[in-house]
Amino acid sequence: MNIDFSTANRIIFGAGRLSYLREIIGHYGKKVLIIKGKEFPDPGTLFTICEDANVVWNYFNVENEPNVKTVNRAVELGREKECDFVIGFGGGSVIDTGKAVAALLNNQGSLLYYLEVIGKGKPLRNPSKPYIAIPTTAGTGSEVTRNAVISVPDKKVKVSMRNAYLLPEVAIVDPELTYGVPKTITAMTGMDAFTQVIEPYVSRYSNPMVDLFCKDAIPKGASYLLRAWEDGNDHEARENISWVSLMGGLALANAKLGAVHGFAGPIGGMFHVPHGAICAALLPSVMLINMKALSHRGKNFNKLTRFEDIARWVTGVENATIEEGVEWIASLCKNLEIPRLSELGIKKAHFPIIIDKSKKSSSMKGNPIQLTEREMEKILELSY
Ligand code: NAD
Repeated sequence: MNIDFSTANRIIFGAGRLSYLREIIGHYGKKVLIIKGKEFPDPGTLFTICEDANVVWNYFNVENEPNVKTVNRAVELGREKECDFVIGFGGGSVIDTGKAVAALLNNQGSLLYYLEVIGKGKPLRNPSKPYIAIPTTAGTGSEVTRNAVISVPDKKVKVSMRNAYLLPEVAIVDPELTYGVPKTITAMTGMDAFTQVIEPYVSRYSNPMVDLFCKDAIPKGASYLLRAWEDGNDHEARENISWVSLMGGLALANAKLGAVHGFAGPIGGMFHVPHGAICAALLPSVMLINMKALSHRGKNFNKLTRFEDIARWVTGVENATIEEGVEWIASLCKNLEIPRLSELGIKKAHFPIIIDKSKKSSSMKGNPIQLTEREMEKILELSY
């Protein structure tokens, strides 16, 4: 067994644990840059905590999934205000912006110098400014991963800045912060979280440590996502989906993902569509085509038994087939009113370019088997 596991320096989890910030905020300096969503969530408590601790705050609003310009503007503000540390308070878009900003505040050079695939992909020389990540959606697990996903509009792609220095100093995961998340966002972010515990479990890079997180979280995702969607005030359901999201972050950062995310990066770069919606639309067909590819030409038959595990966990039926598991997930997507790719503005004419870009994406490398172009096309057709 050979494992290399890394995560945030400290993880604080539990309903109401945002209050823990009071105890630690003074350790990181006198001036903070708060990266937050434009409208949601309400940052009032955060501002009060800063004021009580005599920490001077400035904030930067993130309006959409971050792009190079967003990050550069936030870095400029952080430099101008001479911030000692950074807090990210929002969904994955905010958390990723904060990670990139905290890194660039302590490193020379432009963001493009560090971005993979389309940039130079250079490693960071210096550790980031201390970064406290406080997610307010239950989806990305970005508070414990070492990458920040940034879109590059002129190249129409979303790519990562990736480095161990991007791991936050502290991750505070407080399910209470997700109580007000509307239904559609609950569905899409929740399906992202669910996908992020499924893909690492069948990934080429799966390992016994990550398996523990996935084994725990896949059944919880299956039991609680619809409940959280039906009743946003179901605290038990919200807590469990925040947990699944956190497990997804731990898993993806240490075992990679697969074709769902391999497609999601390029599609998200080409179309202004929420990341979770893309993942949800693709998950059942990616599972089905992976299963068929592994059955026909996979040497890696142990991966098929992992698909059987997933089928058993999601359906609750001891001898469920992989097809039944896939059907169960497809019907969950239907119940959550997840749109199909065709409803997200994607046309069949876009398939060749999506396939071409996806082949180069880093998540595709974690897929349990290398897919042929025809198989990739079939996935898109089935999700259409
Ligand atoms: P998001 O951050 O874009 O937020 C979606 C919406 O939810 C926004 O409109 C936001 O204002 C709203 N929102 C956030 N918190 C809320 C709250 N408490 N109440 C009401 N509304 C709230 O969506 P996301 O799915 O969390 O993040 C997506 C981004 O994360 C994408 O760019 C994706 O590529 C990236 N991502 C990163 C990683 C990683 O490891 N770095 C992993 C997966 C996804």
